Amino acid sequence: MAIEFPKLPYDMDALSPVITKEIIEYHYNKHHKAYVDNTNRLISGTEFEDMTLNDIILNSDGALFNNAAQAFNHEFYWLCMTPDPKPINKKMKDLIERDFGSFDDFKEEFIQKAATLFGSGWCWLELNVDEKLIITQRSNADTPIIDHHKALLTCDVWEHAYYLEYKNERKRYIESWFEIVDWDFVASNIVDYYHDLTEVCRQNSELCDYIDELQNQNEVNS
Ligand code: MN
Repeated sequence: MAIEFPKLPYDMDALSPVITKEIIEYHYNKHHKAYVDNTNRLISGTEFEDMTLNDIILNSDGALFNNAAQAFNHEFYWLCMTPDPKPINKKMKDLIERDFGSFDDFKEEFIQKAATLFGSGWCWLELNVDEKLIITQRSNADTPIIDHHKALLTCDVWEHAYYLEYKNERKRYIESWFEIVDWDFVASNIVDYYHDLTEVCRQNSELCDYIDELQNQNEVNS
């Protein structure tokens, strides 16, 4: 069972001018595709062949881990952006305010951490095992999956993500990128987390209250 190269969720030029068609042509068709192709080549005929991408990431190291994690990270990254950005919904904003003080403080910390990550990597918003939101700098192919954190949002800060348009101005790329974040996708990942729990949502969990309201809002919106 091969790992799938997912369809881009919008046209190649849909995120322009923030992410240009030229960047996406290289980033999606070349870089992302290579990670998927390499993963499939490396799992062929091995015990990894019938695993989900998630399980491959959790059970591999070296080249297979790097390519599989990058396959996941890129699929997730494309979903974090939208040609039709909407304001963050109230409950998601409440959750961010709970853990970062204010949305502006969150935004400042995210941009600062993405801009200062040394070398290649990813800046993430994650839900950790204590159900708190955290911002992490993860180098190279590192991914929240290995810490059993729920990925909520990511910005790719490998140079291939921005260099064709922004050259060395990584921070300008991140600031522009921030304006096309798909906050509905971010909120949907919190809702997924709830569905992934094998037990019924723990009673009196503050997060469960947020999730209930997020789900209600999403149903109203859709
Ligand atoms: Mn990339």
